[in-house]
Amino acid sequence: MTKPVYLDYNATAPVKPAIRDLMMVVLGEIGNASSLHGHGRKARGRIDRARAQIAALTGAQANYVVFTAGATESNNAVLRAFSGQNIHISAIEHPSVTECAPDATYIPVTKDGVIDLQAWEDILKSGNLPALVSIMLVNNETGVIQPVAKAARLVKTYAPDVYIHTDAAQAAGRIAIDMPSLYADYLSLSAHKTGGPQGVGALLIAPGAQDCKLIYGGGQEQRRRAGTENVAAIAAFGLAAELAGADMTDFAAKAAWRDALEGRLCALAPELKIYGRDTARVANTIAMALPGVPAQTQLMALDLAGFSLSSGAACSSGTVRPSATLIAMGASEDEAGCALRLSFGWDTAQDDLDRFFESWKAFYERIRPDLQKQA
Ligand code: PMP
Repeated sequence: MTKPVYLDYNATAPVKPAIRDLMMVVLGEIGNASSLHGHGRKARGRIDRARAQIAALTGAQANYVVFTAGATESNNAVLRAFSGQNIHISAIEHPSVTECAPDATYIPVTKDGVIDLQAWEDILKSGNLPALVSIMLVNNETGVIQPVAKAARLVKTYAPDVYIHTDAAQAAGRIAIDMPSLYADYLSLSAHKTGGPQGVGALLIAPGAQDCKLIYGGGQEQRRRAGTENVAAIAAFGLAAELAGADMTDFAAKAAWRDALEGRLCALAPELKIYGRDTARVANTIAMALPGVPAQTQLMALDLAGFSLSSGAACSSGTVRPSATLIAMGASEDEAGCALRLSFGWDTAQDDLDRFFESWKAFYERIRPDLQKQA
């Protein structure tokens, strides 16, 4: 049996060997980073280094970085700090944003999955002015890059005191991030999307932003996030950020693999719908729907053939709700229910995508007679 092929990097990426090695080393060290003795100082040094590595990846200062348990916690911290105030969020945010802002005004997206700045300006002109705006930098389902800086400039002309949050969980290591040029007051990150461990992330808070405090207790993380730090995970996250930054050019070059695969799939199945194909996307994501074939059927067939993909966002798979992102882009519920997400990354070889194509072709040729009967 050939090795299974993992094509679900946007759900979580495999941990890079150097990162696993570093984690094992740090787990072998003793020390609470709040302790003043040598052991404590060593742990503190590990955390300080990681803070600098994350700042370097994001154009931020090290003192902006607050370590959290991941982007979910980071997003929750920001959105909940503004609860009761007027919040605008894009219509394609992750549930860790939407669930914290049940009364938010949604910024619509175009059929390509990009926020619709013109439609939003009409909302702003009507006098609906936010205290906080949350727009993700890269969408987890389509890979579409959002014009966060442009959006920030637009909203500031109507609401100069507004705060800007961006969920950059799917952007880190995939596109260059420069927090000041994004006008972001808050930026969320997660280690496991870039080859780091699960359960660790960061919230970057620019000076002057309204404070966010989620966990109360000891004075860790500038009194913003109490609790003894997970030193091994934080050190690993730091290295993940450094390696992701160094690998960014290679990552971007893999857009050619994506384009070649999309070209082959569409040549075989012209009815295949690829979302966001005509707009700027990160290199690794293909969101595609095969109308008439439920995503679960496709996933099971591909799983049997040794390929791991997801339907919509992995965070919401298991529930049969169609993707809110694809619906916001104008897909019908039926169409969204037939959508798969393929996402690859640092440990994917071009041959993996070739093998995927061959398996998908075999599946498609098997079901094509049924599809023709449906038509
Ligand atoms: N935001 C986005 C855009 C994501 O893709 C994810 C992961 N699915 C999260 C937030 C949540 O990240 P974490 O798993 O680190 O809490």
